[in-house]
Amino acid sequence: MTLSPRLLVGGRIQPDAQQPPFARDILIAADGRIEGMFAPGTAPACASSADLAGRLVVAGLVDAHQHLDKSRTIASVPNPRGDLEGAVEVFKAYAATMTREDVIARAERTLAASLARGTVAIRSHANVDPETECRGLEALIEVREKWRDRIRLQVVGFLSRGSPGSNKAREWLENSIAAGADVIGGTPARVADYEPFLDLLFNAAERTGLPIDLHLDEHLDTHNLHFEAVIARTRALGMQGRVVASHSCALAALAPDAARRIIEGLADAGIGVITLPTANLFLQGRDADRLAPRGLTRVNELAAAGVTVACGSDNIQDPFVPTGSGDMLEIARWTLLAAHLGSHELPRAFTMASSNPARLMGLAADYGLRAGARADLLITDAVDCADLVAGGALSRAVLYGGRLVAGRL
Ligand SMILES: [Zn+2]
Repeated sequence: MTLSPRLLVGGRIQPDAQQPPFARDILIAADGRIEGMFAPGTAPACASSADLAGRLVVAGLVDAHQHLDKSRTIASVPNPRGDLEGAVEVFKAYAATMTREDVIARAERTLAASLARGTVAIRSHANVDPETECRGLEALIEVREKWRDRIRLQVVGFLSRGSPGSNKAREWLENSIAAGADVIGGTPARVADYEPFLDLLFNAAERTGLPIDLHLDEHLDTHNLHFEAVIARTRALGMQGRVVASHSCALAALAPDAARRIIEGLADAGIGVITLPTANLFLQGRDADRLAPRGLTRVNELAAAGVTVACGSDNIQDPFVPTGSGDMLEIARWTLLAAHLGSHELPRAFTMASSNPARLMGLAADYGLRAGARADLLITDAVDCADLVAGGALSRAVLYGGRLVAGRL
């Protein structure tokens, strides 16, 4: 039976990664939200309680960019070239044979792994393309409903190769929306004519109210840029705060002045950025014959300009990234190292795996360690958030809506 106490006593809470933890007892209401947080010994009496014995309580981790439809296919789908083109090519052949049952089984393994490591919300892209059509998306929507009381899953109808030249892209997009996609997206750099493709997505977003999450310029070619087109449409349709640019690697290849203009545009248009360090380190820059680039976007400059920057897992054990555990603390660690955050910025790396992705997923109203927020909590033996990023935790317990869904108290 799942133990789900209503009062957590003896814990140390850290609602803000930049401030040290402090002792508080947490009262959880019947609706799964935090009713109040009390100085030790001052909480109202409660029949059901657990003693955390000094353990650290933080808001659960958030992974705003996965590909659960591709997850755990590496054994069947090797990528000998090791780059993005190679991965896209080999996955096409696999996608044609992919069944609903196959997607569900692999996705559930990765969801369980992510949840056990403290992730309470995931946004997953699902390829919608000639090989897959909507099979992967429909499978992930089924998984979303099945897991609804354990983890929050958002599914992106991802037109990975949609061409507006054929009516197919429009048809797939409409089918994705009808099937229940939470978000729509695509890869403007991979379509023949990106202007009508972006219009298709933005017009659908305006009509339906769905947010947009693009794989934006996941390459290092400064002659193949789509930032300005996305910024212009976001502004024109008043979609500030509802558009996410995942990857944005090409920003790192631009000269500083040119990059600065785009960064200011992203900040002004309220477009968030998700950096995916494992994919960028693995896939990008393989053609360099020395000093291979890191491939990540300009994380520090974006954050300094006021852009909300999150990190994400991207692919887990597939031809795009052959490794991955579903652990957002590991991704925060990679981000700190690969994006050159400062040695004193472990807390900032933590926010990139927690509150920042929560904001980009539109969860901010429910999220956090405060009265009124959902009790989606990670409880560990770590000293603080910096310690979580630096070395992880030996034990983790996870509450979702106040219910224990992984680990033990
Ligand atoms: Zn991706």
